[in-house]
Amino acid sequence: MPHFETEAIRLSSTKSNQREHSSPIYLTSSFTFESAEEARQMFADEIEGNIYSRYANPNTAELIQKVCAAEGTDDGVATASGMAAMFGSMAALLQQGDHILASRSLFGSTHQLLTKVFPKWGITSTYGDIADFQNWDKLVQPNTKMLFLETPSNPGLEIIDLEWAGKFAAAHDLILVVDNCFATPYLQQPAKWGAHIVTHSATKFIDGQGRVLGGLILGQQSLIDEVTYFARHTGPSMSPFNAWVLSKSLETLAVRMDRHCANALKLAEYFQDNKALEFVKYPFLPGHPQYDLAIKQMKAGGGIVTLTLKGGLSRVKNFIDNLQMLSITPNLGDSRSIVTHPASTTHSKLSEEERKKVGITDGLIRISVGLEHHEDIIQDIERALEKSK
Ligand SMILES: *Cc1c(COP(=O)(O)O)cnc(C)c1O
Repeated sequence: MPHFETEAIRLSSTKSNQREHSSPIYLTSSFTFESAEEARQMFADEIEGNIYSRYANPNTAELIQKVCAAEGTDDGVATASGMAAMFGSMAALLQQGDHILASRSLFGSTHQLLTKVFPKWGITSTYGDIADFQNWDKLVQPNTKMLFLETPSNPGLEIIDLEWAGKFAAAHDLILVVDNCFATPYLQQPAKWGAHIVTHSATKFIDGQGRVLGGLILGQQSLIDEVTYFARHTGPSMSPFNAWVLSKSLETLAVRMDRHCANALKLAEYFQDNKALEFVKYPFLPGHPQYDLAIKQMKAGGGIVTLTLKGGLSRVKNFIDNLQMLSITPNLGDSRSIVTHPASTTHSKLSEEERKKVGITDGLIRISVGLEHHEDIIQDIERALEKSK
């Protein structure tokens, strides 16, 4: 099998009769048939082919083919956003009365899905804490169908043992879904450890330049068939244009991630003993509570670092306002370095109690380390820390 880098570049849609080198954008809502009979056969799934872009499109097909090669999954569905992927992976595979067991540290909107949206349809959930793995057996109910995990988690950077998760899901006959957004398929492949479904917000590192929204649901054929049916008829489709952007982005994912990770590690190392900080968290920093696990299942530590400032909320606001280069925005995984204060933005819909449980304190700052020169990123943060004293 060719390497990740090669497949991400060389897999492409079939060339058109224009013999283009780079895949074109198939910006078309539907596709034509040679005959009434061909139309009938395609709708009946007797022959394969493009019908309508809500169903499939050459650009989304190319993107899915590439990420599946990288993740080691059979097939997938591309969605309009990461949240459409999180929602679709659960809605397509669960029914009224089912129960989801999930890791407590989840992306803010995923938490809203589990606690507010799905209960409306009788699908309930329970959170497990990663410090308490030995007791997760007790959290499995007779109606538990799915184990939903995020690792590394946003923004706490908690690492979950994927080997353990794969075995746990198999032992309890659960569908294991892993949100692999923070790691990307370049750094970690959950399917290798037994995940049945892998989800992505492609908006983040896969796009990598803060341009488009996108989501992916990837996994075993039989499950993806159900997700495909669900997506075709409920319509969370990714636009061909976004799929084209994201497929092009995959060509540079490996080199970008190498630099994101190198910059993030340099930043984490530089600030780990800074007096203004309570602590610095990064999966590949030896002080990370699950450092050994991160090393075991990830190729590198990823592009996110969290800093916990001493001095509470006013210090945090002061720090953010004193940054000159870093952008204040909720996105992450961009070429531009970004600062986010989760407690007052991305995770503000959680109660204070819920935030406390997942370690999102008022002093916690999430840095999405970009591709600028590492010295410039460090200098901007150092200056803002000094000025905010
Ligand atoms: C951003 C994000 C999502 C949601 O993706 P969107 O593309 O913004 O809808 C889901 N999970 C994680 C871990 C994320 O960071």
